[in-house]
Amino acid sequence: MLLWSEEARENGVSGGDLPLAESWWGGANSVRMSEDEKVLKDPVHGYIYVHDPVVWDLINTREMQRLRRIRQLGATYFAYPGGDHSRFSHSLGVYEVVRQMIGAFDRNNYPWPHEYDRLALAAGLLHDIGHAPFSHALEKLMEVRHERWSVAIIRDPSTEVHQVLEAASPGLSEEVAAIIDKSSPNRLIVSMVSGQLDADRLDYLMRDSIATGVDYGTFDLARIIRVLQPRGDRLVVRKSGIHTVEAYLLARYFMYWQVYFHSVSRAGEVLLHALLVRAKSLIARGREPALTQPALRAFLKGRVSLTQYLRLDDSALFNAFSLWQDGDDPVLKDLSSRFLDRRLFKEAPWPASRDPRLDDVKKLVVELGYDPDYYCLVDETGTIYYDYYLGNGQEPNSESAIWLYDKDNGEMTEVSSVSKPIQAIAADHRPVRRLYVPEEVFRHGRFDKILEDG
Ligand code: CA
Repeated sequence: MLLWSEEARENGVSGGDLPLAESWWGGANSVRMSEDEKVLKDPVHGYIYVHDPVVWDLINTREMQRLRRIRQLGATYFAYPGGDHSRFSHSLGVYEVVRQMIGAFDRNNYPWPHEYDRLALAAGLLHDIGHAPFSHALEKLMEVRHERWSVAIIRDPSTEVHQVLEAASPGLSEEVAAIIDKSSPNRLIVSMVSGQLDADRLDYLMRDSIATGVDYGTFDLARIIRVLQPRGDRLVVRKSGIHTVEAYLLARYFMYWQVYFHSVSRAGEVLLHALLVRAKSLIARGREPALTQPALRAFLKGRVSLTQYLRLDDSALFNAFSLWQDGDDPVLKDLSSRFLDRRLFKEAPWPASRDPRLDDVKKLVVELGYDPDYYCLVDETGTIYYDYYLGNGQEPNSESAIWLYDKDNGEMTEVSSVSKPIQAIAADHRPVRRLYVPEEVFRHGRFDKILEDG
C-alpha cells in the first residue's frame, strides 16, 4: 500500500496540520470518520480532496493501485507523447467530480440525500477498477467489457476493495457494484457516474485534453458542475446552462476526432491487437512464446481467474513484447518490435469493410512476404456524440438525454430540440474506417493503383 508521504500534501489548503497516514488509518478495515483532510495535487482539478477515511482506504487498496500501472489512453501516446497518464489519476478525478457535484448541490440548496455520499463517491472512484491493461485492445480480445470485471472485483470477498466497503457497511459493495453496472434503483447516482453528463466523461475529456495538449477538448468544467441540478431521479441542467452544455458536447466531438480516432492512435491499437492475436494463436497451437507472467498466459488461453486478471498491467505486456522481439516466431517477433519501436502501419481511408479491393491488397501483401491476417487490417471505429433520439420515429429514451430545466415554469426541454450545434453533431454517426498495412506495402506503386481502381 502507498504511504501518504508519496502523495502531494498541502497543509496550507486544509488549514490544519495533518497526521501521518499510519496513525490516521489504524487498521485497513476499521471504519472511522475523521475531520482530517487529504489533499492530492491534480492537473485537471487543482486539488482532489478526501474527507471520508473509507474513500482513502479504497484509494490505498491494491486493486486501485494497479490502475497506476495502466495507461488511460492505451496506444494514444504514439500520437500524443503526453497522453500516457494513468487510469489511477482519472479514477481520482471522477471521484473529485462527484464530490464537487454534491458540493454544488449543497451550495444551491438542492435536495441531496447525504446518506448516499459515500456510495456515490465510491462508485465514481471504483468505476474503472476492472480495466484491462492498454485501454480497449485486450477487452476486444477477451470479449468481456471492463465493467463486468469491475463489478466482479467489487463483489469478490478476496479483494481489498470489497473488504473495505463491507467493513464500512455490510452490503455497500453490492450497492456500489449496482451503480457501476447500472442495475441500481438509485437512478440519480447512476446518472452522476455514467450518463450523458457524468463524472466519468467530464473528467476524462478534460484530463485527456490537458495531457495530450489538444486544447479544443477543454470546456468550462466548473460551470457545468454549477448548472447541474438533481430533479427527482435524474440529473438535469439549469436552462441558463445551455451554452455550457453545447461547449461540452463540441469538446467531446473534437476529442473523438483529434485523439480517440486519431489515425496514429488507431495504428497503435491495431498493431497491439494483431500482436496479441498472434500470441494467442501460437499458444493455441502449442508453440508458446516466452512468458514471464503466468497471468498473461492464462489470459491468452482465455481462462483467466480474477486473481490472475488483477496481475495484469501495462508492464506485464511490455515485458512480454520485449522478450518476443527476440523470440522464434517471425511474425510475433516483428510485431513486437514494431510496437516497441513505434514502426506502425500506414493507413488509407477504406469505404466499406467488405470492399472487393481488399483481395487485391491482400495479394500484394503476400507478394511482399507478409501474412495478411496480421499485416492487412481494416479498422472500424465510431461513436455517437450525443446518443439521444433525433427524428427516427423511435420512442426517445429519457435516460440518454440531457434535459434543460426551466425553474420559472417547471418545464423540461431536451437539449438538442433547442440547439442547432447539438443537432448537427448528434446527427453525425459516421464510422471511421481505415485500412492498415506495412509502410512497404503502402509505398508500393501497385497499392495506389488498387485504391484508384475502386
Ligand atoms: Ca472511466
